[in-house]
Amino acid sequence: MKIDGNCHCGFIQYKAEVNPEEVYICHCTDCQSISGSPFRWAVSVPAENFKLISGNPKTYEKISANGRASHQLFCPECASPIYSTAVGTEPKSYNLRLGTSNQRSDLPPKLEVWCRSAQEWVASKGTNEKLNKQ
Ligand SMILES: [Zn+2]
Ligand SMILES: [Zn+2]
Repeated sequence: MKIDGNCHCGFIQYKAEVNPEEVYICHCTDCQSISGSPFRWAVSVPAENFKLISGNPKTYEKISANGRASHQLFCPECASPIYSTAVGTEPKSYNLRLGTSNQRSDLPPKLEVWCRSAQEWVASKGTNEKLNKQ
């Protein structure tokens, strides 16, 4: 599925081709603090299927509890998260933040991960049996 999107201020614009079956939400505590929200909503996109149209995102290097580094890219003007990617791995893929996509209403999550860190009041937790939980 072809999608496009932009950060809140419009500085960053992108196009991508994504698989709607791979849309997920992550409840881990890093995603909670980086997004400022109860979970992160994303899809993994091979690098060749993602194209930055305008703007140059800023990179924050996140070190996770297990010591693994990832790059978190965001708009330097409005701080909207755009994508994350592992450091030093090939082939590259981007975990695109779907809140920035114009097609977001057509991209419901198919998988939930890190459910043990989920906030108890998150509505989908334990109620949406269509979702595949980890
Ligand atoms: Zn922006
Ligand atoms: Zn996470």
